[in-house]
Amino acid sequence: MYDTVIIGAGPAGMTAALYAARSNLKVALLERGIYGGQMNNTADIENYPGYANISGPELAEKMFEPLENLGVEHLFGLVEKIEDHGDFKEIITEDDRFESKTVVIASGANHRQLGVPGEAEYNSRGVSYCAVCDGAFFRDEDLLVVGGGDSAVEEAIFLTRFAKSVTIVHRRDELRAQKVLQDRAFANEKIQFVWDSVVEEIHGDDRKVTGVTFKNVKTGQESKAAFGGIFIYVGLDPVSAFAADLGILDQAGWIVTDDHMKTAVDGIYAVGDVRQKDLRQITTAVGDGAVAGQEVYKYITEHAS
Ligand code: FAD
Ligand code: NAP
Repeated sequence: MYDTVIIGAGPAGMTAALYAARSNLKVALLERGIYGGQMNNTADIENYPGYANISGPELAEKMFEPLENLGVEHLFGLVEKIEDHGDFKEIITEDDRFESKTVVIASGANHRQLGVPGEAEYNSRGVSYCAVCDGAFFRDEDLLVVGGGDSAVEEAIFLTRFAKSVTIVHRRDELRAQKVLQDRAFANEKIQFVWDSVVEEIHGDDRKVTGVTFKNVKTGQESKAAFGGIFIYVGLDPVSAFAADLGILDQAGWIVTDDHMKTAVDGIYAVGDVRQKDLRQITTAVGDGAVAGQEVYKYITEHAS
């Protein structure tokens, strides 16, 4: 029986593990893949205090390292369900069942798909959701980035290291991204914009992507353009389906908590991007994790028999 099982080893989960383990609790960190979460998909982090610039994988490494010495157990598995039995919870993966007095859900968010014809067909054949992973394969190509948020603008700037040109298509005439990223993109000679437009269809030949059809949402006019690669950054969906039976999700699937990271189920906490909140960042993820780690300690102390 663990004191706490933390689901997800992104920045939120790793911080919850750090705080819970430093309170001398029996802690397991359960991850379906490699530690680091979404941080693994970004080359330059410039808004994590203490570092002017650090790569995502390097920051992940720095967060993970101390956990080993603190005795955090690392479990591998994809969580499919959590069962609440009052005093203890069962965490069910494909192959295992783990018992724990508390659970911290830190399962984050996944990139959203556009849902247009050609997207699934050309996935990994010119359609990508990760510039850091795939950007170098598109040297001297004309690339398209879809979206107007931080991810789209930041990754478009990153892609200019390899691409001949990068076009950002956004459904409005104003970006959502932070001002500092906008300024950098507007000043970058390789970046151009297609405003008020959406991608209607992704085209390709029998090998790979060749271009898209745009639709101007104001005029309804359609146009075709050639691109060698398409990077899609149109937001996030919560990774929370495994918690659907607990009655802790809002309509869009984000987990509802109070300021103490408590969900509606006693002993179950949620932290980081999976939580219903306004600002999804590494800093806010680690803040949530710290609070939950401390709350778990209080819960265990109060429920000690
Ligand atoms: P995540 O990082 O999403 O981690 C969740 C973890 O849970 C993952 O490792 C996942 O594998 C695991 N998991 C999910 N489901 C299960 C399951 N069922 N069973 C087991 N494990 C599971 N933020 C910044 O502050 N600065 C930046 O510069 C920045 N750049 C970004 C660039 C990109 C391209 C992206 C996509 C995001 C960026 N962000 C940035 C946002 C930041 O990465 C996220 O806010 C942060 O990673 C959220 O942390 P998290 O721990 O809540 O979730
Ligand atoms: P986001 O902020 O939700 O932005 C998604 C963008 O895609 C928006 O511009 C949105 O348009 C557009 N969009 C949504 N659905 C669309 C569709 N069907 N077709 C066309 N466009 C569509 O998502 P994100 O940029 O991935 O960022 C997610 C979180 O990570 C945010 O909290 C962000 O701050 C954080 N993040 C931070 C950094 C950083 O700090 N450097 C970097 C990356 C990500 P509208 O604007 O019209 O809604």
